[in-house]
Amino acid sequence: MIVLKTSRELSLMRKAGKISQKALRLAGEAVEPGVSTWEIDKIIRQYIESEGATPNFLGYGGFPASACISVNNVVIHGIPSKSTILKKGDIVGIDTGACYEGFNGDNAWTFACGEISEEARALLEATEKSLYLGIEQAVPGRRVGDIGHAVQEYVEARKYSVVREFVGHGVGAKLHEDPSVPNYGTPGRGVRLLPGMTIAIEPMVNLGKPGVKILDDGWTTVTRDGSLSAHFEHTVAITPDGPVILTQLD
Ligand code: MG
Repeated sequence: MIVLKTSRELSLMRKAGKISQKALRLAGEAVEPGVSTWEIDKIIRQYIESEGATPNFLGYGGFPASACISVNNVVIHGIPSKSTILKKGDIVGIDTGACYEGFNGDNAWTFACGEISEEARALLEATEKSLYLGIEQAVPGRRVGDIGHAVQEYVEARKYSVVREFVGHGVGAKLHEDPSVPNYGTPGRGVRLLPGMTIAIEPMVNLGKPGVKILDDGWTTVTRDGSLSAHFEHTVAITPDGPVILTQLD
């Protein structure tokens, strides 16, 4: 069931989105060689709680940390750990979300740890660009397939691949709501977008083949071929005036 949000709910989501984005930026500033992903998780949790919000990933389905931190070939759902120490050249996907007065924000960014390879830099740029191309399609009357198509077309033209097993999603009082928002699709197909819908658009893009697998911890999702993977995400409201990114600062 797709839940349309009232303007009061949208303003709470705006606040939740802002906290989620600030947490993500603080996390990104902490990315540097020698830092553990556990330390970054701690920064995220402290900041979100200082705003009177809660990290919505903590305990979600049993997830043991406040954020997902996914390094290099980890696509998503990396578990922060004292033993995962960042090194120069890593790419670090960080996914943060805050729940504020019952409403959720969800956003992600892939950061460079020091200097990274040309190949990695190009992957990050393409994935970020595909996110914004997807967001451009998030207008009333268009369909979920228009978003997925915009992402897929851009990414595949650059010989990267789009992850199929994990997709974007509606977001609101629940972190994951209907509809699913795949990063692939056919223009004009799928759920029609309506004002008041709020969705997380989140391209996950692999340098190699699209296949992924989940490790024995039940969370960590890696590329099957070991290639690098990038992840960028915003929570977006569909409005009569066009897409409004809720996970941004003023
Ligand atoms: Mg998400």
